[in-house]
Amino acid sequence: MTARIFNFSAGPAIIPESVLEEAKENLLSLGSTGIGIMEHSHRGKAFLAVYEQAVARCRELAGISNDYEVLFLQGGASLQFSMVPMNFLTSGQTADYLITGVWSEKAREEAQRVGSVHEACSSKDKNFTYIPQELKPGSSPVYTHFTSNNTIFGTQFRTEPTPAAGSFLVCDASSDIFSRPIDVSKYGIIYGGAQKNLGPSGVTLVIIRKDLIERGQKELPTMLQYRTHAKNESMYNTPPTFGIFMMNLVFGWIIKQGGLASMAAKNEAKAKVLYDYLDQSRLFKGTAQADSRSLMNVTFVTGNEAIDQQFVSEATKAGFDGLKGHRSVGGMRASIYNAFPHEGVVELVKFMRDFEARQA
Ligand SMILES: *Cc1c(COP(=O)(O)O)cnc(C)c1O
Repeated sequence: MTARIFNFSAGPAIIPESVLEEAKENLLSLGSTGIGIMEHSHRGKAFLAVYEQAVARCRELAGISNDYEVLFLQGGASLQFSMVPMNFLTSGQTADYLITGVWSEKAREEAQRVGSVHEACSSKDKNFTYIPQELKPGSSPVYTHFTSNNTIFGTQFRTEPTPAAGSFLVCDASSDIFSRPIDVSKYGIIYGGAQKNLGPSGVTLVIIRKDLIERGQKELPTMLQYRTHAKNESMYNTPPTFGIFMMNLVFGWIIKQGGLASMAAKNEAKAKVLYDYLDQSRLFKGTAQADSRSLMNVTFVTGNEAIDQQFVSEATKAGFDGLKGHRSVGGMRASIYNAFPHEGVVELVKFMRDFEARQA
């Protein structure tokens, strides 16, 4: 088999190797059923057991109470950009949006199609290199939406913002979900595509408070109402069975790692290796403000585009893949999600040190 290389891709991203091995075993036969995981009916006992374990593990990991529903939907985080306002924002009402990057701007755009939006803060003035400390809440917003980790710009909220009085908190947690402990009780809705921290693309985890599900608009197309998916245990139509299976394995892997607190400790130690190096490097520098740095996506530049390109190209040849930064930031981005090995960051820093020495 071809050796696996260090994959710094921002998403779809690295999946724990043990999970891939376990998946491989179940492709031809799920357990002893004689039928592969992708070939099982979603109504059958075998798949239902997978689904139930995935929900149970998800609840266990994040301490999700019975006041919340755990849903596995399709359409990515991008469909949640629309579903949230369609269900909860009627025309004449306002929602607060915290604008900390491209994804929050996209979320806002969809809300603007439905109702009115108030910008509670924005870091656009400095190309989204920081997380604003102060919010200016609108008047009686229905909900307050934020993006916990800005995948493109390499910034991350340290803790959840306080929503305006009377509004519930909505979080796009696509790129840091389950990378650290989360107090679900502070949120109305948390959503995230699986392809960064939880598994393959094609399935979206939605954690939503049950009373909100009831409040949602009733005139929407059936598939766009949360109540449809809640009533049918995410199986109103054929769910992304393979994605749910993979997510279940990833949940199991996180539990084995010691749960979210342990995951956070590992992620902090891992990111520190890279940030410590960047802080003393004479060639590379981080693009995010120190107090806003992401533990998931580390963005950095040399300040010279030609050298950036040379670095990415040499790094790729040396087996460090996916380091090219997003076009809106340029430079480099190392995505080091839960499944990314500590050793890979240590190796990258060695390579960067060597590159820096050769440049000097
Ligand atoms: C990747 C990403 C998205 C887009 O997710 P899709 O599943 O492709 O719709 C949205 N928000 C954030 C923060 C992301 O990182």
